[in-house]
Amino acid sequence: EPIFVLDNVTVRFGNLAALEQVNLTIQRGERVALIGPSGAGKSTLLSLLNGTQRPTQGEVRVLGRPLARLSPRERQAIQRRIGTVYQQFHLVENLRVIHNVNAGRLGSWPLWKSLISLAWPLGVDQAAAALAQVGIPEKLFARTSDLSGGQQQRVALARVLVQNPDAILADEPISNLDPERGREIMDLLVHISETTGKTLVVSLHAIEFTQSHFHRIVGLRQGRVQFDCPAGAVDGTL
Ligand code: ADP
Ligand code: ADP
Repeated sequence: EPIFVLDNVTVRFGNLAALEQVNLTIQRGERVALIGPSGAGKSTLLSLLNGTQRPTQGEVRVLGRPLARLSPRERQAIQRRIGTVYQQFHLVENLRVIHNVNAGRLGSWPLWKSLISLAWPLGVDQAAAALAQVGIPEKLFARTSDLSGGQQQRVALARVLVQNPDAILADEPISNLDPERGREIMDLLVHISETTGKTLVVSLHAIEFTQSHFHRIVGLRQGRVQFDCPAGAVDGTL
């Protein structure tokens, strides 16, 4: 059973179609690069996959379940199976790293519960293990704002890992990083996917890493799938 299916999906914002009649099936364990220029619909597509956006038309199925036909509780349970990292990291900068990482376990808890849980020194071991997995075990008690961009993206990834999702989505994860840090993050994403079997879907605006790091490349342009092919089939001329 595929992990993600978009069945003839259209997303409209007013008159603008951010995605138009998109069909896409992603298998468990697959590593897919989603490439296309700014405005092509990459973020919109990823937000359909993690259930934060609903389609105007068509159906989204995650782990075999049609999101629109689930109860809110069932939908949240499915959404917990998907972790997402973003270009802007989306960390709370004045919290310590451990608290940002542990926020991944809280998911959609009400804010007051999340705040109370932050006062408890629970989950130190899990947070430490996740930070070790992303290569910065020594930053557990660091203040998040003291970290570099590359380190902050690692914290965001650790926050996803404590959630133990089936799939990791990354929305332009290296656009805010210098090339060297960007390569490290791409290598890390692939390493985690390879060693854990987690599905990986990464949006990128250049094809730089696609052949070396992915099984498959999906090209989007103006809300439509322009090509969808094995990574090896794409050359550098796109
Ligand atoms: P990409 O990630 O490839 O840059 P997006 O999915 O962010 O593309 O955007 C696709 C199109 O949808 C763009 O034209 C963008 O301006 C538009 N769009 C995205 N989100 C919204 C929104 N919440 N409201 C209105 N328009 C949006
Ligand atoms: P609100 O009007 O409060 O924003 P919505 O009715 O738009 O609520 O969405 C309710 C919930 O539906 C949201 O939490 C959203 O995560 C979830 N949702 C996401 N994707 C889908 C989908 N494909 N079909 C139905 N619901 C979805």
